[in-house]
Amino acid sequence: MATKSTSLVVIRHKATECVGCCLCAETIPQYFEMNDEGMSVLINSNEEGVFNKVDALALDKIEIEVAVEGCPVDIIRMSNS
Ligand code: SF4
Repeated sequence: MATKSTSLVVIRHKATECVGCCLCAETIPQYFEMNDEGMSVLINSNEEGVFNKVDALALDKIEIEVAVEGCPVDIIRMSNS
């Protein structure tokens, strides 16, 4: 029988349109940090078209949603896959 895996969601980030407000890095620092140019970076992410993408813990959904809703340029997405 397969081991039950930790429940995950996916965060996507369109970094090229970031305006550097820091909200995401302050809200979910386990997933976002600010780079030397003052723009946010999705930590340990992979590129997927215009987005960067990383798996996140479903347990963090509420905090992630705060960043999704709070991003002033609407470039953070959360989904189940
Ligand atoms: S909340 Fe949006 S605009 Fe602000 S730093 Fe994060 S990605 Fe950039």
